[in-house]
Amino acid sequence: MASDLVIVYHRQPYEEVEENGKIVFRENKSPNGIVPTLKGFFGSVNHGAWVAWKLAEDPANPGFEQRVEIDDAHGRYTVSRLPLTEHQVREFYHVSSKEAFWPILHSFKERYNYDPVDWENFQDVNRRFAQAAAEEAAEGALVWVHDYNLWLVPGYLRAIRPDLRIAFTHHTPFPSADMFNVLPWRKQIVESLLACDDVGFHIPRYAANFVSVVRSLFDVEVSPPIRAPDKWFTEGTALTERVMRETITHEGHETGVSICPLGVATEFIETRARRPETEARVKEIWQDLGPAKLILSVGRTDYTKGGAQQLQSFERVLEAKPDLRGRVRLMHVSVSANRNMSSYEDIQTEIEQIAGRINGRFGTLEWQPVALISRAIPFDELVSYYRAADVAWITPLADGMNLVCKEFVASRVDGEGVLVLSEFAGAAVELSDALIVNPFSNRAMDRGILQALEMDGMERRHRMERLRKAVAENDLSHWGPGRLQVGAGPKRAA
Ligand code: UDP
Repeated sequence: MASDLVIVYHRQPYEEVEENGKIVFRENKSPNGIVPTLKGFFGSVNHGAWVAWKLAEDPANPGFEQRVEIDDAHGRYTVSRLPLTEHQVREFYHVSSKEAFWPILHSFKERYNYDPVDWENFQDVNRRFAQAAAEEAAEGALVWVHDYNLWLVPGYLRAIRPDLRIAFTHHTPFPSADMFNVLPWRKQIVESLLACDDVGFHIPRYAANFVSVVRSLFDVEVSPPIRAPDKWFTEGTALTERVMRETITHEGHETGVSICPLGVATEFIETRARRPETEARVKEIWQDLGPAKLILSVGRTDYTKGGAQQLQSFERVLEAKPDLRGRVRLMHVSVSANRNMSSYEDIQTEIEQIAGRINGRFGTLEWQPVALISRAIPFDELVSYYRAADVAWITPLADGMNLVCKEFVASRVDGEGVLVLSEFAGAAVELSDALIVNPFSNRAMDRGILQALEMDGMERRHRMERLRKAVAENDLSHWGPGRLQVGAGPKRAA
């Protein structure tokens, strides 16, 4: 059955497990993350489809059904599984996307690695995603493509199916032209994005950067500037942008430029945070802590997350303030998502070394300053830590949005807790009532965490009240494919 909404996202929308020799599709255990959110959109259309890849030794003979019908809490939808070899996945995802695009998107020019990129393979994989999406889409359907590893999909798709409405959403930062144009494939990437009806970003700055990149590469018409909404004005914060442009017209085709800051499922998180099991777990955590305050830091092991810099700040603070020893603990959750990549192994080793050094320098038999956790914590358990923490210390060097800080705020149904947030996380634009710090400044980092630990109750609760309002006002229900409506859009003229 042809679909009115086709989501193109590289991962499959379920966990595929073997039970008693049979393959079963199970709902993802984690309620957070983008997958359940996207599946939620299937509820608004007659029929939906999802295009993702699946490993196959021989793509011509994959040994699995390429199209499966799923029936779950989100309704019935088709999943089209694109068979890719291990080599293809490594080249398109781990090499081209993670070694070349990821550092540039996050403005780490020195980490950019051009040499191993197999551009032919990247194009080929993207072309196949586009073909698979075209096969699923009904006349005039909305095809919603996600993230930079599928940058070329809109261009290929438009060529085969001019009738479609195409939206592309970035889940990362988007850098300025000086940075983006390091990519030698820049024109092809941007031309593909301009084939969309809408290109979405988390915050006005990333959209402004995109417009500047487009203008540096093509003769286009850009709509007049409009003022960004006041709620996103944070005086003096690095990512604040005052002006937005709504459309770009290139060779007669208009592309919307949208700002869609991704939110969290506040009601769902609040319900989890209020459960008696959570309350009981919070009490247990407090008991284990004794008189010490809990600082919580949660992120992936990635150089963009600034884990090593944060631990170094903690070390300096313990050095400078001996009275804090025994009175504070840092739970540093750093989950490795890319174990087989050497650059990530290096970060992991560095984090382990610094954490070990801090514990060796300052720890006693009764008190360990840092609890380093390298495995993923299940979401319910994470909510208990969010509830129990005195401070959430979230200081990425660059981060498209950062959902952890919003989850922390949504969990604080008690109205307590302090959020220390990097001004280079997209979320800082919305969460100006956090203690905003610059992670590139040692002094600002150290002062930020000390200020959080010392903050009086009134200021703490006042800030948290405003943070909770901001997170609730822009929760997940406000998010979508920019100006394109799921299930209600007009047909695009071919
Ligand atoms: N997360 C989790 N367990 C962990 C660490 C993280 O479930 O041990 C989840 C967290 O709840 C959040 C997501 O992983 O929803 C991380 O999203 P974020 O936007 O903060 O960072 P990303 O990893 O996407 O850059």
